[in-house]
Amino acid sequence: MNKLFNNTEVAFALKSDSQLERAYFLFRMIKNEPLVKIGTAVTKFALKTSLPVEGLIRSTVFDHFCGGVTEEDCMPNIDKMYGKNVHSVLDYSVEGKEEDAQFDHVMKTTLNIINFVQEKDAIPFAVFKPTGFGRLALYQKISEKKELTQSEKEEWDRVVARYEAVASASYEKGIPLLIDAEESWMQTAADDLIEQLMEKYNKEKVIVFGTLQLYRHDRLDYLKELHERAKKKGYKIGMKLVRGAYMEKERERAEELNYQDPICKDKASTDENFDTVMKYMFSNLEDMAIFNGTHNEESSYMFMDLIENSKYLKTDPRLWFGQLYGMSDHISYNLANAGYNVTKYLPFGPVKDVMPYLIRRAEENTSVAGQTNRELELITAEKKRRKL
Ligand SMILES: Cc1cc2nc3c(=O)[nH]c(=O)nc-3n(C[C@H](O)[C@H](O)[C@H](O)COP(=O)(O)OP(=O)(O)OC[C@H]3O[C@@H](n4cnc5c(N)ncnc54)[C@H](O)[C@@H]3O)c2cc1C
Repeated sequence: MNKLFNNTEVAFALKSDSQLERAYFLFRMIKNEPLVKIGTAVTKFALKTSLPVEGLIRSTVFDHFCGGVTEEDCMPNIDKMYGKNVHSVLDYSVEGKEEDAQFDHVMKTTLNIINFVQEKDAIPFAVFKPTGFGRLALYQKISEKKELTQSEKEEWDRVVARYEAVASASYEKGIPLLIDAEESWMQTAADDLIEQLMEKYNKEKVIVFGTLQLYRHDRLDYLKELHERAKKKGYKIGMKLVRGAYMEKERERAEELNYQDPICKDKASTDENFDTVMKYMFSNLEDMAIFNGTHNEESSYMFMDLIENSKYLKTDPRLWFGQLYGMSDHISYNLANAGYNVTKYLPFGPVKDVMPYLIRRAEENTSVAGQTNRELELITAEKKRRKL
């Protein structure tokens, strides 16, 4: 069994003793489900009523999971990580705002990032999420094939124009663009739009990447159908592979509205689905590019083995590993140290506005107890090694 990820000296090389202690403290807190529930409620209340908690959030959970408030703030972190061969993706993580002005602001920020990263090898991708560019309810209405009103049609045209502006800038500057995936009931509209962009911009190589959430049992079939269409029309497919972050919400909605649950029946089926799609894409690499977004050690070792036993180089630009900043450094830094393409999603934005992102991370680490235990086990090993 491969032990690459157990090297804690490499994994935590960038963490000072006090940062390591903070990480230990944070994961201990996050592991405790009632505490996360209470902490989340108190934080929401405190921010709403303008209680002075920003400083506390900033020096604890924010600094652990985010790069800074602005792109410039993130640069010292980005440079340090790049010194260890770990790349970054600047992820403007402001969520939950639903006005046109905000969507335009997110688009402009994404365009600025594309300009900003042009000359920076440390930042090989740009990224945005569909609901950063348009209202969830509008994506949903289109996904459900419902008739739009005249003003909704105009609103949708503006969403399409935002995608187009960002994709064409990515194409011109040669910066691949990752587009996240969200709730299944709005995703079809985003997927269709992303497919059109792939057709337009992925003729020679992959610029536009969609995302496959492999907790959804329909995604392999979707990918195979997309592959057929891409072959016919002569373009390449870029996909970020993830398991999916909205499982509880998905299951609850399916039960409430009495339709078939779109999520695999259990964790083992999701894992199998993930690995099957990874292998399918890898065996069709001439038509595809893979961004493997996971903290799962088995899936990461499997991807490593696929590359190792193939004709492709570890540094092939179609093969990427990705983790979130503040999580699974043992995977990212050991892979980068071994010469693979690795990038961290580095969230940034005003403290108050990235709270939904931070709360999702806290809740995810609570529900994925195994992963938090693993983080704690590795931090403990490193503390011992450093004799802290
Ligand atoms: C770089 C990067 C980008 C990401 N982008 C997105 C994105 O665009 N959209 C998005 O939704 N998420 C995204 N995520 C989050 C991701 O979907 C997962 O929530 C997270 O990474 C945990 O999954 P895992 O593969 O790392 O690990 P694991 O810990 O092995 O898997 C946990 C995941 O397995 C699934 N699962 C758990 N229990 C069950 C069960 N009982 N039945 C079925 N499935 C189960 C869930 O998806 C859960 O999140 C991203 C993650 C990374 C690292």
